[in-house]
Amino acid sequence: MNRNLTEDRPTFVTHLECSLTGERYEADQLHGLSRAGRPLLVRYDLEALGRAVSRDTIAARETDLWRWRELLPVRRTDSIVSLGEIETPLIPIPRSGGGSVLVKDEGRLPTGSFKARGLVMAVAMARELGVTRIAMPTNGNAGAALAAYAARCGIETVILCPEETPEVNVREIAAQGARVWRVNGQIDECGAIVGRGAAEGRWFDFSTLKEPYRIEGKKTMGLELAAQLGWELPDAIFYPTGGGTGLIGMWKAFDEMERLGWIGSKRPRMYAVQASGCAPIVRAYEAGEDHAERWEDAATVAAGIRVPKAVGDFLILRAVRESGGAALAVGDPAILKAVEDCAKKDGLLLCPEGGATLAAYQQAVRDNLVDEDERVVLFNCATGLKYPMPEAGQWLDKNGAIDLGAL
Ligand SMILES: *Cc1c(COP(=O)(O)O)cnc(C)c1O
Repeated sequence: MNRNLTEDRPTFVTHLECSLTGERYEADQLHGLSRAGRPLLVRYDLEALGRAVSRDTIAARETDLWRWRELLPVRRTDSIVSLGEIETPLIPIPRSGGGSVLVKDEGRLPTGSFKARGLVMAVAMARELGVTRIAMPTNGNAGAALAAYAARCGIETVILCPEETPEVNVREIAAQGARVWRVNGQIDECGAIVGRGAAEGRWFDFSTLKEPYRIEGKKTMGLELAAQLGWELPDAIFYPTGGGTGLIGMWKAFDEMERLGWIGSKRPRMYAVQASGCAPIVRAYEAGEDHAERWEDAATVAAGIRVPKAVGDFLILRAVRESGGAALAVGDPAILKAVEDCAKKDGLLLCPEGGATLAAYQQAVRDNLVDEDERVVLFNCATGLKYPMPEAGQWLDKNGAIDLGAL
């Protein structure tokens, strides 16, 4: 370590490790992908951590993301740029989902999506390691979270969006101070442009899983879930899967907590949910493959999971298989129907990606993959307010005759 960091937070990071080969990398240095071109995972001295802090100590702290600080990589408090990363609630949806279904509503986080968890961590680490300019390809929510945190600490950002990114996301990104461009291509094609600039040293590449710390931020979903459910994980988790950061992060969190003795060996069955118009992980899962081929002509209303190719494909597939879960695809009509169902019957406006998890759950119950009595958690990863909603065009003339009984 040569950056002369004055560490003021107890953190137990020992090193980073290639998720494919296990090759070791130094902590406290700037890293992208491993030499094998795969994501790097942060490793901790869990024995020392377990001696320093107990789950009860953590449970007694304020319930925000930073209560987990010993299990996170940030070494200096002043690296953190916070916008209020609260613990998100578990909301029952008895009518549209059934009596044993809870929605983890991530739409309440800063910038209205769980991308805030990943980006608050990645930006803190970028700051700690001296990065001043960042670029990222995004379908919307990740770019918005990056723009917000980076603007707050004066890091410059260049953000590239596929042309079909929802208008509200592009405007949000611009409003929060980033230089944002629409590109006539998919997210991986935007990523290729970002990669070219990074190779020329113009900026640091913040693509999903191409820097090591977003996983650590997303991991807090798994930690939080355990604490909220009395240190007993649910029977099944339905996760809307694009790059898979959250699924990979939660799986890592469960492993770390078991090694700390904070939870037992019970794991939820992990269901990776994709849209049938972009389902590379489902196709690879069904074919028994370890890696997923690129999905051509990707199209779905659920923009956050429109990811034709994921660098962490093998990590998603491994977690799904080890857990005894599955990868499931649902069509756009079922997604929109689920969003409508949940809003009309339970008063909770899901985003389309969240709707996909509800649709997949309903399908899984019909297919006997999941029993109706099992404790299930669905992830709603953004507020439904950031997406186009069905028209509501009824109009009343205040000067005309109004039939009040017909309203
Ligand atoms: C990014 C995103 C996802 C997919 O998350 P990954 O962890 O990258 O798979 C799902 N839903 C929404 C709303 C998103 O913004």
